[in-house]
Amino acid sequence: MLREISRVIDDAESFFLTSHLNPDGDAIGSILAFKGILNKLGHDPVLYMEDPVPENFKFLPGSDKIIHHMNGISGRTFDLAIVVDSTDWMRTGGPFEPEVNFRKVINIDHHKSNTNFGDINLVKTEASATSEIIYDLLNVMGLPLSLEVATCIYAGIMTDTGSFTYSNTNDRAFGISEKLVKVGVVPDAIAEEVNENYSVSRLLLLKMALDTLEFSADKRIGAMTISQEMFKKTDSGPHIIEGFIDYPRFVSGVKVAILFRELSGGGKYKVSFRSRNPLDVSRIAGAFGGGGHMNASGCTVEGNLLDVKAEVFKVVEAELKKKRRNEEKRGS
Ligand code: 5GP
Repeated sequence: MLREISRVIDDAESFFLTSHLNPDGDAIGSILAFKGILNKLGHDPVLYMEDPVPENFKFLPGSDKIIHHMNGISGRTFDLAIVVDSTDWMRTGGPFEPEVNFRKVINIDHHKSNTNFGDINLVKTEASATSEIIYDLLNVMGLPLSLEVATCIYAGIMTDTGSFTYSNTNDRAFGISEKLVKVGVVPDAIAEEVNENYSVSRLLLLKMALDTLEFSADKRIGAMTISQEMFKKTDSGPHIIEGFIDYPRFVSGVKVAILFRELSGGGKYKVSFRSRNPLDVSRIAGAFGGGGHMNASGCTVEGNLLDVKAEVFKVVEAELKKKRRNEEKRGS
């Protein structure tokens, strides 16, 4: 499959790269690492992301080349669209029309809920991050690993493994990271850029969000809520809330952490889930039409906050009960 992708890239002249809404380190790292590959081959791809690059990822080389509009290119047909780290077209949030804008689509991802929407689908759920797959592609193509590309891949792996702490942290993640460090990546410098570069707005927003903390009666579910009003008051936006959900997640005894974020326009909430092993929250998000991974997932739910919360808590509680029943059956 990697070889087929390499051949398809060789045959194309024009490229369009994109990833998912509210881009995280892996989305941005993957798209920019791919840009590096194409630049090396003499191509100048268009990089599109619906949402802005968060401040703490702006240090990644090439992030300033990412556009957030289709002005001047909406009618264009690109030979190849490469969609990274996105389970489906909807997740990109882009205003493009795939049948009109792209002759061929390559879908590269590591989410198990990926819908295989491309003409070529490279979905490796065992990969710790999509950036890891881009690293494999670079090797198959026989291209040298530049410091710029290595930095992007490292940022992707580091962030998607929660700084090498989540359950997807494995020998490959460390093995590839070792190679990236060997070409000059400085782990503490990247960690500092990503984790120690927060704005005052973020802290003020966190303060308000912490005020909404709530727990289920048995303290196995912890939740937090962010409203559009809070964004307005702190002059901030959804791109700075990375890590907020870890506050309820890190509470001893909490099995599922939930973050409810009101979407602009009102009446809809983005709901994020995080769990501790082995509770599969992608099943919970899936019940609401979303997806993600075993320990991190998300979906969008329509309704007023009270109803949305009640509905979501009900599904999470049912999943926890089912898990407990299964454990009892197994005698664990
Ligand atoms: P987050 O909560 O950080 O937005 O997302 C956690 C994980 O769930 C990520 O891997 C993300 O791609 C996935 N995810 C979040 N929201 C959605 C959604 O609405 N649909 C799908 N398919 N995946 C989602």
